[in-house]
Amino acid sequence: MKNIAILAFGLASGLYFSQEIKEARIKEIVSTLASDDMKGRKFGTEENMKAAQYIAEQFKQNKLDYCYGDSYLVPFNYKDGKTYYNVCGVKKGTEDSYIAFGAHFDHIGEAKEGEDKIFNGADDDASGVSTVISLSDYYKGKKTKEGLIFMAFNGEEIGLVGSKYLANDEKFQTYIPKIKALFNFEMLGTPSAFGLNKVYMTGHDQSDLDEIINANAPKGFEVAPDPYLSEKLFFRSDNVNFVKKGIVAHSFSTVDMEHQNHYHQVNDDINVINTQNLTQIVNSFAKTIDQLMKKDFKPKYVKPLQ
Ligand SMILES: [Zn+2]
Repeated sequence: MKNIAILAFGLASGLYFSQEIKEARIKEIVSTLASDDMKGRKFGTEENMKAAQYIAEQFKQNKLDYCYGDSYLVPFNYKDGKTYYNVCGVKKGTEDSYIAFGAHFDHIGEAKEGEDKIFNGADDDASGVSTVISLSDYYKGKKTKEGLIFMAFNGEEIGLVGSKYLANDEKFQTYIPKIKALFNFEMLGTPSAFGLNKVYMTGHDQSDLDEIINANAPKGFEVAPDPYLSEKLFFRSDNVNFVKKGIVAHSFSTVDMEHQNHYHQVNDDINVINTQNLTQIVNSFAKTIDQLMKKDFKPKYVKPLQ
């Protein structure tokens, strides 16, 4: 039964559009995280914790292992003396090396006044988290060469806080030298200035990761150069805390910085998300990673970090 289903799917998908991660699934994840119930997932709120638990539940369903400790929720002690959580799950590969995926799940909460007060953060960054979760869906039950680390960071909006703790956590250090590349997903919900099924990589001139991806990408998918280099986006998201550990770590985004009107606005809700394009992008990443894992995949920095 199972094999026949796979065969039928393979035939059908070969005819028009190969898609293994379904748009309905992407929509479900973004809608859940960006719902009004989540009240903008602000760091330290009950709803922020609820978002973390939702992500942990998806990791559990996908049978990931804990990155370490006894939970997907990885605690850190912040300077206010309280404990907060990142979410981290890992899937072991046949080799002792890893590819890591990350996105931040916190957002900026609620406005003080206005009819719509909630900063839903659908694009920023429920879109990125949906990418991380659906990649863990995609690899459920599949054997992979590299191990895969799936991370959802807290406290990005208050200064890349959660990722900093995770990257520097003593128990995480065992992974650091084994991570070949880290893909951080930041705002992939709207079509890029380069068109559909295209993303840009922040700090593309720093490493050869974009070239490697493009050489292994399915038809139509492309990683474009960072069009906003002067904004130094490479240093403004969670990837940078892993860059500091020597990992080739970039953020991938579609947001058109020159024309967008939803960044940190209350209208960043499910309605701004082009779920069809987002789904295609996630599937494109999955297909690319499949190709990379067939090879001796070794991205490197090509110029000194500045
Ligand atoms: Zn933000």
